Amino acid sequence: MESLIGKLFDEFPTESHWDAVVVGAGPNGLITAAYLARAGAKVAVVERRYEVGGGLATEEILFPCYYSNMHAIYHMMVDYMPVMQDFNLGRHALTWIKPNLQTAMVFGDGSSLLLTRMLEDTVDSLHKHSHKDAVAFGKLMRTWRRLVSEIIGPATYLPPTPSLDWVVALQRTKIGRELLEINECSPLQIMNDHFENDRVKALMLYVSCMWGLDPNETGIGLFVPLLLDRGMNKCYCYGGSHKFAGALAREIVRNGGVILEASEVTKINMQNGHVAGVELREGRTLHSKVVISSLDPHTTFFDLVTKGNLPATLRDTFENWKYDKWSYHTLHVVTKEPPKYQCDDPWVNESFMVVLGFESTDQMVAHWNNVMAGKVSNNFGGHSTCESFWDPHLVRMPGGHVSFFQMHAPYDIEGGWDRRKKEMEEAIIDKWQKAAPNMKRENIIMTAAETPRDIEIRFPNMRRGAIKHGDYTPMQLGYNRPNSECSSSKTPIGGLYLCGASTYPGGMVTGGPGYVAANKVAEDMGLKKWWKPTPVMEKYLKTYFE
Ligand SMILES: Cc1cc2nc3c(=O)[nH]c(=O)nc-3n(C[C@H](O)[C@H](O)[C@H](O)COP(=O)(O)OP(=O)(O)OC[C@H]3O[C@@H](n4cnc5c(N)ncnc54)[C@H](O)[C@@H]3O)c2cc1C
Repeated sequence: MESLIGKLFDEFPTESHWDAVVVGAGPNGLITAAYLARAGAKVAVVERRYEVGGGLATEEILFPCYYSNMHAIYHMMVDYMPVMQDFNLGRHALTWIKPNLQTAMVFGDGSSLLLTRMLEDTVDSLHKHSHKDAVAFGKLMRTWRRLVSEIIGPATYLPPTPSLDWVVALQRTKIGRELLEINECSPLQIMNDHFENDRVKALMLYVSCMWGLDPNETGIGLFVPLLLDRGMNKCYCYGGSHKFAGALAREIVRNGGVILEASEVTKINMQNGHVAGVELREGRTLHSKVVISSLDPHTTFFDLVTKGNLPATLRDTFENWKYDKWSYHTLHVVTKEPPKYQCDDPWVNESFMVVLGFESTDQMVAHWNNVMAGKVSNNFGGHSTCESFWDPHLVRMPGGHVSFFQMHAPYDIEGGWDRRKKEMEEAIIDKWQKAAPNMKRENIIMTAAETPRDIEIRFPNMRRGAIKHGDYTPMQLGYNRPNSECSSSKTPIGGLYLCGASTYPGGMVTGGPGYVAANKVAEDMGLKKWWKPTPVMEKYLKTYFE
């Protein structure tokens, strides 16, 4: 026994020395660490939880026997993420399912709309509501797909360009000028400019804004083509999102990196204004001249570096950092039968995501305005997915189906979550049942709710339940995320880098912040980069920056 303990401490001694320490093993921290480890750096990744993955969580929250992808389930950037090809992640049996039926929207009168991967199927569905909008959508997506594949997609994996320089660069092409024009508009304005039918607008608005865009905010319009195009190309990670984290973790370890789970970083050590390593809750010290944090700005700068060690500019910016304008409240359920939606199109039952509860854009906007004011009234709607329809691995007991309903919700709800949680469960089941009549109590085997506060408890770096570690507003996007001094991942503090969702390009499982950080750190450490930009990134650089 003694020798066993001795060995454990040999592997993870009280004091150890590293070329780089990554704080947090979410998708971004894992990606940064994987690139650096393969480039020959001695890397340690420190993760507070027992499991790596952060938002890539597949857990048995419906205990026993039923697993859910409780955070990231819709993977929108699989087509673009360089990490997929660079590491040939398929060798870890990582399999992505990309359903044709991506998002359905069902209405109280039994009608429905579909947003599909195949453009023609969406056009067909829109025809039921408006011939004009069907034609407009077909034409629009042909252009918007180009905006994504030629500009926004590749730019996600390159360091941000100062706003004015980007405007000048995009002026070079017609498609670039179109993107600049769209970016000036609010999501709602874009819908009103292009579509006439309110239900068509409602579907497009939900898909564009569901990740946290204010429908009335101007200067964020480029997210509309991005999120619509990517919302038509969402992938499911077969076996559960955690498989993606597992594949990345194996790449770190096979290249000599070390992952310390159940270890919380409590301090970033400083020496003469430069980072010197990190301290862990259990008392170990990891010495390193490079520390790369994937956490939110308050945790990284105020809690770990501490205010006294910060330049005034950083202190001021991060004191004003805004967390996401809304969080998510999710009801996970196990049912005897999967939800069966009663509507005019049987395909709805095979859709990856089903939006329900909303009848109009006005209702949707009213719900979001309510949420931003800390309220939820009965005008809410949300989206649901029957996870086990896509993935039998989530069910470990014969029979039973795993689904969830997710809605936008405030962190500080009027009345408090402890009091409202049960009432919300009843309201959700009631709403769900109106769209899918079999979602009655008799069909439900068990439930588990996750409130915005629960998100923060699981991930303290998702403060206030902020799924993107910070709001999407013009002041917190692009070159300004988290501020102009840190958006390329390097901070003004020597040796301190950022690689998480609060850094350019932002939240969700895009892998962008992790990849941009890996490039910057490798350059600064003088490591030989074994990877090169993807062909679309090279084309983008040539078109706009040569
Ligand atoms: C309910 C919900 C649903 C979502 N759905 C989707 C979706 O469908 N598609 C999508 O793309 N995105 C989705 N997201 C968002 C996505 O999960 C995040 O934006 C993404 O995980 C951010 O990745 P990250 O690596 O930057 O940070 P995280 O995933 O937050 O990882 C940070 C890691 O740091 C660890 N950590 C925290 N503090 C410390 C510390 N002091 N020391 C050491 N480790 C620490 C955390 O435990 C965590 O593992 C969802 C999020 C939530 C909450």
